[in-house]
Amino acid sequence: MDVTIIPPKTISLLTTYKCSAVCKNCCFGCNPRIREQLSVDEMKSYIDKSLSAYRSTLKVLVLTGGECMLLGNKIYEIIKHGKENGLLVRIVTNGYWAKSYRIAFNKLQKLKNAGLYEINFSTGDDHLEWVPYDNIVNGCMASVDLGLTCIVNVEKHDKSIFKVERFFKDERLKSYLFPTNNEKPNLKIESGVWIKFNKESEITYKDLIVYNDNSKGCTTLFNTISINPYSQMLACCGLTSEYIIPLRLGSVKESEIKHLYESQFQDFLKIWLFIEGPMSILKFIYEKRKVQYGFITGHICNICSEIFKERENIEILQLHYKEAMARVLLKYSLYAKSICLT
Ligand code: SF4
Ligand code: SF4
Repeated sequence: MDVTIIPPKTISLLTTYKCSAVCKNCCFGCNPRIREQLSVDEMKSYIDKSLSAYRSTLKVLVLTGGECMLLGNKIYEIIKHGKENGLLVRIVTNGYWAKSYRIAFNKLQKLKNAGLYEINFSTGDDHLEWVPYDNIVNGCMASVDLGLTCIVNVEKHDKSIFKVERFFKDERLKSYLFPTNNEKPNLKIESGVWIKFNKESEITYKDLIVYNDNSKGCTTLFNTISINPYSQMLACCGLTSEYIIPLRLGSVKESEIKHLYESQFQDFLKIWLFIEGPMSILKFIYEKRKVQYGFITGHICNICSEIFKERENIEILQLHYKEAMARVLLKYSLYAKSICLT
């Protein structure tokens, strides 16, 4: 297919799946026993290769996991490398290391000196079984005091006990969340839908209509070079991405990063996911299979994994995808041209 390539804006290194925590619904099944991690040389080389292919569009480097702070001193080296190459560097952490304000401040000072721009903390019911709430508060206060941008992401589902409001009611965070000088706060508290990955978990989304838009595409595709601890490039950082084989693009040890990234644009299904989204594709499949369906709700990535779960769905797509091809490629071409011109 002769389609416009949308260049990536972000490099996301899933540095390790080792974690200090064992959250019940961790999407990658992370835990302290996992050994696999990207080496410093690998990470630097992946950053360099990505930049040599897309220097003008890549702006952000994200270091995540697992728990990237378990990399020890290596993390400073990678942050420095990203910063020296003109990238805004963000880390995503569970905050296990922020045991007091002083400890958090000292650690963050070193991260900032290495070139860190933004830090994201993850918390919520599952995380709180492993990392106390006060760690997150320590981390937030110290980050903002050091001039870092700080975002907290709180797990959200129907039965969440811990809610974002806890932060807004915390007196210690008042001046950080509501600065009196009319400036925009450097601290943001957000909530993100937490997906069930553990059969015994009671997570539901009954009252949370998360995603039911027939025409909403998946914008997580086609903007990130995402590499896991096994040096595999993934098409997206979606929560179910490791479980959907077609989203694994291949090993960056065996193929060029540019080649793997651009190979996605030869896959009509990814273009379809990007333009019309998994809901639209799932409905297309159900109609062909004459499956009765009602109001489908759920996280966009859950709906996406539903498409790939059954062999019959893929067979239907192989047989009928051409019916959607002209429409989807036209929409894609108009969209890609508009963003590549800006
Ligand atoms: S802190 Fe994050 S990476 Fe670690 S187990 Fe929990 S969800 Fe997984
Ligand atoms: S919807 Fe699918 S393609 Fe998009 S982020 Fe989720 S898993 Fe990835």
